Amino acid sequence: MQLPDINRSVLRPLHKEEWEERKLEVFVKQDDRIHSDISGNKWRKLVYNMEKAQLQKNENLITFGGAFSNHLLATAAACRLYGIHSIGFVRGDELSADSNETLRKCTQLGMELHFLSRSEYLLKTDELWLKELHVDFPNSYLVPEGGANYLGIAGCQDMIRELPEHIDRIFVAQGTTTTSCGILLGTSEKTKVHVVPVLKGFHAEDEMRKLFTLSGIDDELQDDLFQRMIVENSYDFGGYGKYTPALLQFIQTVYQKLHLKLDPIYTGKAFFAMEEVIRKMNIQNERIIFIHTGGLQGIAGVERKEKIRFFE
Ligand SMILES: *Cc1c(COP(=O)(O)O)cnc(C)c1O
Repeated sequence: MQLPDINRSVLRPLHKEEWEERKLEVFVKQDDRIHSDISGNKWRKLVYNMEKAQLQKNENLITFGGAFSNHLLATAAACRLYGIHSIGFVRGDELSADSNETLRKCTQLGMELHFLSRSEYLLKTDELWLKELHVDFPNSYLVPEGGANYLGIAGCQDMIRELPEHIDRIFVAQGTTTTSCGILLGTSEKTKVHVVPVLKGFHAEDEMRKLFTLSGIDDELQDDLFQRMIVENSYDFGGYGKYTPALLQFIQTVYQKLHLKLDPIYTGKAFFAMEEVIRKMNIQNERIIFIHTGGLQGIAGVERKEKIRFFE
């Protein structure tokens, strides 16, 4: 299996007449190219966790995810590379290791899957339950769902060093908020960070405060960071895993015009938001960076279901 390589994550300029007229420099940071199974930001979030597990000589690594989780697959692949046994707890006890391509791949990569009912799955952050888990699976390293911990944030923060010094705005999709927390921490006070939650009724700032606080970042610094964050709350397209025909069409058009592959769960929504916000805010004379967080492994299922081909 190929190794993840952050050098493949190039910064590519995107050209569009409308943006040229606005004197905008728009770039995409192609973290999606880091690895085919270890989807962009998932490697960033895992890398320090994997190193810690290796240093501690943990035999097992436990994590959590939904049926089509990019994080679950990324963890299975990363553990394979590090020679650590991976254990994945999956949301939904109606599922099996053969339910879809993502879960099949996880199994092929050696991940031991356990299926939890939706109510059991909520225990994933319960201290007592996790303690018992460590009894059942001794010498295990635990990565929270989506890689949402301080080491995850730190890995995402590193990505900013690969970007030019002067950036006016960054656009990024948001799930657990780990990636956006790292981006906020890593950027200078001149950079505005537009976060695009893909979950419905999501309170970005509340979620980020929880994660920052768990990571030992004090309230004062948090207040400072949130001053230059803009939450784009109207681009969830119905919620997590939901999409509209207009979004699917948009993804196809972006590919035809810009040769950029997006997915309908995360990056398609964020890119849609970026295009619309540029117009609505009438942004001009700026340098803007779109963070491509990956997620392309999951599109085959959508293509089958919708009987479409995104990229041709
Ligand atoms: C997981 C994921 C996200 C969300 O990142 P968070 O750090 O959880 O906010 C965004 N884009 C893609 C493609 C993802 O797979």
